[in-house]
Amino acid sequence: MASSSQARCVFLGAPGAGKGTQAKRVAQGSGLTHLSTGDLLREEVKSGSELGVEAKGYMDAGKLVPDQLIIDMVKARIGGGDSAIGESGLLAASGWILDGFPRTLPQAEALDVNLSGDNALTHVISFAVPEEVLMGRLTGRRTCLNCGAIWHVEHKPTSKEGVCDQCGGELTQRSDDCNEAIGKRLEVYRSQTTPLLAYYGDRGVLKEVDANRSPDVVFQELLTHMQ
Ligand code: ADP
Ligand code: ZN
Repeated sequence: MASSSQARCVFLGAPGAGKGTQAKRVAQGSGLTHLSTGDLLREEVKSGSELGVEAKGYMDAGKLVPDQLIIDMVKARIGGGDSAIGESGLLAASGWILDGFPRTLPQAEALDVNLSGDNALTHVISFAVPEEVLMGRLTGRRTCLNCGAIWHVEHKPTSKEGVCDQCGGELTQRSDDCNEAIGKRLEVYRSQTTPLLAYYGDRGVLKEVDANRSPDVVFQELLTHMQ
């Protein structure tokens, strides 16, 4: 995927659509920097930072964290120094994938202000999955506390229940992967995030991927879009 080294991508999709799994995989194979706002927020929650304390209530209820908090957090990663993504932020990286951001029109507009001209987005990929499939994917999802690997009790079980096959770490269920929060997250996706499909569609950078297929098949298709 040599030509994708300059790719500046947004992965859009409902909770459970698989964008995080695929973003990790594409980043690993291509050297693109992967930035997940959900992962960043969970790190903030874990560290007990001011942002983490404020964000946790929204996240557990399946609501979006307010735009300004998210925009400030992402902005710091785009231009500022951050050891997680190299010395000078995303703009200095050779290419990257945003996963879980933007999720609202104000977030998309804020991103455009920071990424104009030579830094404009090159790919926006929408992961399409029917809602009834999403529900099952989310309730069965388990994450490794140690390495972050994502498993599923039915579709991708570990050989020993509750233990990561990759590193032996303990598996956990995300606090927002309970039925109540999942319903809210899907509703929020419908009302706040789907307008972005038209926003990017009008610009001609949007590609839709049928993500109701096996992770390997989806990955292969992604590679063709990112050439
Ligand atoms: P998912 O896409 O499966 O819901 P994420 O890990 O991307 O999971 O996000 C988890 C939660 O973090 C969201 O439900 C929301 O509360 C918060 N969050 C993540 N990204 C954003 C964002 N761009 N804007 C607002 N809230 C966000
Ligand atoms: Zn692990």
